Amino acid sequence: MKQVRIQLPDGGKADFPSGMSAREILAAAGWKDLENAVAARVNGNLVDLARPVTEDGNVEPVAANSKEGLAILRHSTSHVMAQAVQDLFPGVKVAIGPSIEDGFYYDFEYSDTFTTEDLSRIEGRMEEIISRDDSFERREISRDEAIRFFRDRGETYKVELLEDLPGDVAAVSLYSQGGYVDLCRGPHVPSTGTIRAFKLLNVAGAYWRGDEKNAMLQRIYGTGFGTREELGDYLTAMEEAKKRDHRRLGRELDLFQLNDEVGPGLIIFHPKGALLRTIIEDWERKEHLKRGYDIVQGPQILKGDLWKRSGHFDHYRENMYFTEVDKEIYGIKPMNCIAHMLIYKSKIRSYRDLPLRYFELGTVHRHEKTGVLHGLLRARQFTQDDAHILCTPEQLNDEIKAITGFVDDAMKVFHFEYEVELSTRPAKSIGTDEDWEMATNALEQSLKDRGMAYEINAGDGAFYGPKIDFKLKDALKRKWQCATIQCDFTLPERFDLTYVGADGERHRPVMLHRVILGAIERFMGVLIEHYGGALPLWLSPVQARIMTVTDRHIPYGQEVLRSLLEAGVRAEGDFRNEKLGYKIREGQNQKIPFMLVVGDREMESKTVSPRQRDGENLGAMDVAGFAGLVRERCERNE
Ligand SMILES: [Zn+2]
Ligand SMILES: [Zn+2]
Repeated sequence: MKQVRIQLPDGGKADFPSGMSAREILAAAGWKDLENAVAARVNGNLVDLARPVTEDGNVEPVAANSKEGLAILRHSTSHVMAQAVQDLFPGVKVAIGPSIEDGFYYDFEYSDTFTTEDLSRIEGRMEEIISRDDSFERREISRDEAIRFFRDRGETYKVELLEDLPGDVAAVSLYSQGGYVDLCRGPHVPSTGTIRAFKLLNVAGAYWRGDEKNAMLQRIYGTGFGTREELGDYLTAMEEAKKRDHRRLGRELDLFQLNDEVGPGLIIFHPKGALLRTIIEDWERKEHLKRGYDIVQGPQILKGDLWKRSGHFDHYRENMYFTEVDKEIYGIKPMNCIAHMLIYKSKIRSYRDLPLRYFELGTVHRHEKTGVLHGLLRARQFTQDDAHILCTPEQLNDEIKAITGFVDDAMKVFHFEYEVELSTRPAKSIGTDEDWEMATNALEQSLKDRGMAYEINAGDGAFYGPKIDFKLKDALKRKWQCATIQCDFTLPERFDLTYVGADGERHRPVMLHRVILGAIERFMGVLIEHYGGALPLWLSPVQARIMTVTDRHIPYGQEVLRSLLEAGVRAEGDFRNEKLGYKIREGQNQKIPFMLVVGDREMESKTVSPRQRDGENLGAMDVAGFAGLVRERCERNE
């Protein structure tokens, strides 16, 4: 009888009959906690626990609470959801049902719309299927047979998927549980009973294959976890996230508007939003000057030829907008690199001039699909804190280290934790092996020099060079892409950038593209959600609101307002003829850090009595004293 030689958890090896299931081998090999396993990894491949093992090597359990395990659990739940939907809504066709970052979805063709009541009915039916504990059975059939099978059932989307498979795919796998059959590569959990905690969340329209020319399908989103407790925590966090939704807070705090009359993905900043933005931008300018950057500014539109030369016309055209001026095509910039290179090229550069660091709060336009637009977080016009650093290869390490230090400082200032990822050369890339190695080493070494922990995303770099991505973590533990550092040897080549080296010869500089906060709009959206609208004092567009008790206090209120504005405090007055309690409640809802009530006592003693947004009263003080307190707390970054 054929045997397979399998590595044991203790490092030893043992032989098992070929064809034993992964689950049986795991148990026989002495793996612990197998009741938490949802699948197995055989020589690196994820497979069903029931899958026979026929080759030597490694067999390991995949736990429900691991990243892969959770994805398998959630994806399996999407099969159960599809089964429930077809049970309850005969004639509904199924499209695809993958797991995603925080859950899963399945797309359905349904002539009506799924309502909230429908979702709870579907959940109920899913619970029934789960309690039956039907096993997920895999079988392989020929592609032609599968096409016939799904065609007979009217599952046109599955037929299309099968027909589009590459020509050399002869066999496909089907999975069934309790009479429901789906086309799927797998793996899945062993049986429906493995699913312990799930919740359907919402319904959204989605075009088949993401293409607007195709049929509009209905996507039901759901999530699942290994335990009910984890699910509960997630749902609580979601509720909290809804309360903090920056679009809602943007309205409530009167920061900005999104208006269909203007167009999707285009933001109008109201006075307070524009002020918040200005505070962040002022911080950016100050910090960049401090670190030896030059502030520059390029035009919004540049002639088409430049975009051809940069490669954007070939590789990025669909995301760009174009316009015509004097019968000539101009591209509206989606990136700020070109003007910065033209500044570099305006003079002969010597190695002594380098590094050059050009910084621009660069407003760019990118044609994002309407489906992905999301308030400030994903817009069609946004402003990046963009810089391009041109340096010699020898300077690369120090420059990257300086940027990682900059990012670290910025994250501390805004009170964010973050994670770092290094993305290396992708399969499709340009440039020489030496260039890639030099750049990747420089990025990695500078992280090591700083003692920064990082993960490697193999093959996830840009086609023109490797990069470091920083993901900040907000108060709800959500991750957001902010800073990136990208190495680029291609653009200096395309634009023939050179410097004269110590040897008197011409050399090619290396270019770094980098952002620190990323898009200012997006960063503002993250900030608003991170703080639930209660921004730190130094970022608050309104730091203090003066509130009169009655109309006779208005002249004194105005005097206080003038003094505060002169002292540099961002203040405003609420002199309406309203009850004080009402004014204070409104100030609290607006998350104003200080409310200054002025009544008889304050007027007579020429003082103010600041009340913090958390309700604490600081007692009477004169106006200069209050201005000093604001200044001090801003400096302490409270
Ligand atoms: Zn599946
Ligand atoms: Zn760039």
